[in-house]
Amino acid sequence: MPTLRLAALLPALLALWLSHAWGAGVPATDPALVAETTQFRETGRYDEVEQRCRDWPRRHPEWVRCETLGRTAEGRAIRALVISKGAGLSPRPRQQRPVVLIIAGAHAGEIDGKDAGLILLRQLLASNKPDNPLQHLTVVFVPVFNVDGHENRGRFLRPNQNGPLEPGDRLTAQRINLNRDWMLAQTPEMQGMLRLVQRWDPDVTLDLHVTDGIRYRHPVAVSHSPLFSPHADVQTVSDFLLQNVISRLTRRGHAPLDFYPVLNDPDDPSLGMVQEVDAPRFSHVYATVRNRIGFLVEDHAWDDYATRVRTCIATLLASLETVADHRVTVMRTLIEADLKSQRLRGTTLPLDWYNTADIGPTQSNGSMELQGYRYEVYEQAPVSGGRGIRYDTQQPETWKVPLFNHIRPVPEAMQTLPEGGYLVPAGWAAVVRPYLRLHGVRHHVLSRPLKQIRVESIRVQDDEVVFEPRPFQGRTRTQLNGRWAQDSANLPAGSLFIPMEQPQAWLAAHLLEPSAPDSLSSWGLFNTAYELSDLIAGHRELELARWMAAQHPNIRTLFGEALYSQLPLWRQAFEEKLSRDPAFAADPQARLDFWISKLPPHDPGYNLYPIFRTASPQP
Ligand SMILES: [Zn+2]
Repeated sequence: MPTLRLAALLPALLALWLSHAWGAGVPATDPALVAETTQFRETGRYDEVEQRCRDWPRRHPEWVRCETLGRTAEGRAIRALVISKGAGLSPRPRQQRPVVLIIAGAHAGEIDGKDAGLILLRQLLASNKPDNPLQHLTVVFVPVFNVDGHENRGRFLRPNQNGPLEPGDRLTAQRINLNRDWMLAQTPEMQGMLRLVQRWDPDVTLDLHVTDGIRYRHPVAVSHSPLFSPHADVQTVSDFLLQNVISRLTRRGHAPLDFYPVLNDPDDPSLGMVQEVDAPRFSHVYATVRNRIGFLVEDHAWDDYATRVRTCIATLLASLETVADHRVTVMRTLIEADLKSQRLRGTTLPLDWYNTADIGPTQSNGSMELQGYRYEVYEQAPVSGGRGIRYDTQQPETWKVPLFNHIRPVPEAMQTLPEGGYLVPAGWAAVVRPYLRLHGVRHHVLSRPLKQIRVESIRVQDDEVVFEPRPFQGRTRTQLNGRWAQDSANLPAGSLFIPMEQPQAWLAAHLLEPSAPDSLSSWGLFNTAYELSDLIAGHRELELARWMAAQHPNIRTLFGEALYSQLPLWRQAFEEKLSRDPAFAADPQARLDFWISKLPPHDPGYNLYPIFRTASPQP
């Protein structure tokens, strides 16, 4: 009977339909995450990400793609899930819909974002509701950025955090902190990430972390650094989006903070809260310096893992909804910012900021309420006998604390940007060019030499170069306190020109102005410029000075007629100084220096910052 035969065939037909719909061998649903099967006591291994990267694109080929953005130092693939329900699985043209980059596990122990992102995106993929933000934007989700750290587990790797049981490591296998590596990009992980950022050019970046700080009752802090944008409208849109996310979360019963809270004194909240000034080494500031928007999301470390993942899901959803709702404004503003960046030449802008509370005692500016706990500040704590604090997490309390958020530009970092651009001599091109490429800064290689062209240069005295005493991220950080001055230079063929007329002009200035906090100079890449390797021996100085004082013809042979003809005048000045200045007369080295300083430098590159600026748009 036909009915019976059809009934017998149904399972086979269903299987055929399923295999057609989901691809052969793809299960209809994912296995539950380890976090879900353990009631959020634990978090899964990286194979959970690999499995979703295999299955989601096969199950939803029109909505999901899996990309490999690079490999870790230990050779693991770093995956990105590209997801959109409105035909946005390729990067161009970017004007059509916003791209949101979500990064989890940059610090692999702070892994809430991985589980939250996988759960939320699974829900959004299954939802056909019209308010699904995936209809209006493309999400590029990196579930675990620091994959090696994620697989390197230990029970005590996050001593200031309440779960999961075995968190991963904050650092990469090379012991680099990825959320300080955005400008220097010294890890294979970050180099892969920067290639992804160039390919996808995300409008908004969300970097998901967990706090390291105090105990309070706010489940999440979302913060940004719009001051690092030179464009007022980017600052305005960034503020608007942040407040929109905050009010969505508040309406849904979370109590978010719109800044990252740092105590003035970690042992006493009553002494106030300080606003931190970040730098482009952080993801959210890096996005800002690229004319984009970046948010740092910090779940509260002392909430349990289940609560934190729930909070993170809420924050992600609120953020995606906000960007989707305001997508036209966001995209228009950022496209305009790229255009405005091409006209930054000659403008004076701050490259760095400081909080007045960081340099000495200062007045607070206002106060704020924080949902905290009762606490006790010990002058003689039990066990230690010293100062310390104990929070009583059974006793909620509202703190009213002074706020220190006077943020000012660092005077030395106020820079008038060059009219034309930057020049990198050929000898330094191999050092600088990889960074220009990684960061998408336009530049070209000079095919012919430039002789005696007018440039600006920085020549410093020994005491204007300050090396930090301890390495940071393995580097000797360096502060250069010189100013640009008119000069001339010879540039061989093979030198680089970086024009100001480009969308990444502000990022170029942040890489190449030595006063910028994360410039290549600040990271110590040019430190050989400040090392003197060849000294003039004492006996040679004495010989030269004697010849100069005596107008010996050897000086003419060595240094030429022009210098030789000055010798009688200098001799007269020397003798006057001897008779007028007893301190000089009593200082043998000063007396030698008088003569030696008049000779041409024996090391002309010493203390010369190896990058020039030009006023010409086409040198
Ligand atoms: Zn972190």
